[in-house]
Amino acid sequence: MWVLVLEEGPPKMMYFIEDLELARTYGGNAMVQMGDLQVPATPNNYAIWYVYHSGHTPDLKRDVDTLIESKETITPERTNEIFDRYFGNAAEGQALRDTGQGLEAAISKLIGFLSEAGTGTEEYGNALEQYSTQLVDTASAEEARAIVTAILGETKNMAERQINLRAELAASTQEIEMLREGIRDAQREAMTDALTGIANRKALSERLTESIEEVEETGVPMCVLMLDIDFFKRFNDSYGHLLGDQVLRLVARTLTECIKGRDLAARYGGEEFLIVLPATSIENAIKLANHIRETVAGKRIINRTTGESLGQITLSIGTSRYRLGEDSEALIKRADEALYAAKRSGRNCVLSENELSASAVA
Ligand code: GH3
Ligand code: MG
Ligand code: MG
Repeated sequence: MWVLVLEEGPPKMMYFIEDLELARTYGGNAMVQMGDLQVPATPNNYAIWYVYHSGHTPDLKRDVDTLIESKETITPERTNEIFDRYFGNAAEGQALRDTGQGLEAAISKLIGFLSEAGTGTEEYGNALEQYSTQLVDTASAEEARAIVTAILGETKNMAERQINLRAELAASTQEIEMLREGIRDAQREAMTDALTGIANRKALSERLTESIEEVEETGVPMCVLMLDIDFFKRFNDSYGHLLGDQVLRLVARTLTECIKGRDLAARYGGEEFLIVLPATSIENAIKLANHIRETVAGKRIINRTTGESLGQITLSIGTSRYRLGEDSEALIKRADEALYAAKRSGRNCVLSENELSASAVA
């Protein structure tokens, strides 16, 4: 922390920027000595003894030393004489002292503000420093006042800049927030099947990779279900693609309602879905597959506009369990084979890869 101290002496008046600690020491010493010498503590006397202790003006120090050594009573006439000699005429000196005090307080405040504000204040700091340097060479109250005016102007600018900065910051924060939301939406969209709103192939492939890595690390079993709507072409042919689309949505919703935790249901293709079941045994995968199959088959499809019953939708499902070292294609291929075995065995049923190999052997 710095404090501005006013000092004046022929031929020029000077301002010094002192360290606050030093200023306190000079001021304290001045007060003690004024007390010892029984000099009244007027602002003028304080100015003399402050500068005396600061050592900034050797001439003033010599004059005061001579006065002290003379052992004469230190009368107001003597001190006024010294004051006038070193601080200009009394009126101007007073004006300057007032200005100096105002500046001192203002600059302390500003510097405190600057160190708190921390950022964006470099320019302003530089301007202040420049004015401080000018103050060192200032010759008159008028000049000092001009500098104070300039500092005030600079301060106003700074305050305005701060307000603008805050507004800009708020605006850009909002912009950034919107951008972030946009990116989040885009990411979500990139992972979502547009028709059904569930995960798409991309999301599926990412989840499969993660799940496979997990199995390779922990050995905990992981299964997949491959599901296909039975005779869906017939449904489309009978009721049209728009109703067919609604059925796809209904099935997708049912799948997501039947799974939990880290399970993922994705649209694999036209009317085919794939469900990833991390940490799931093949027995539990078959159980879940049957639960899904029954849930879908249990729904009555009604044309809301006409009230007409469109019958029942059924699913065929194949399941497979991940084998250490294989890739996702191999895993899916076995589920697909089980699915087609389910189709062959009459549809609306679940077959696992185990039953597939048994039937292949048989
Ligand atoms: P299967 O029981 O053997 O699976 O018979 P399927 O008719 O369901 O199978 P197939 O592969 O012969 O026909 C699939 C049909 O799924 C063809 C198409 O009409 C329908 N489909 C595929 N994608 C969409 C879609 O996005 N919307 C609609 N409405 N129908 C679709
Ligand atoms: Mg199909
Ligand atoms: Mg089908």
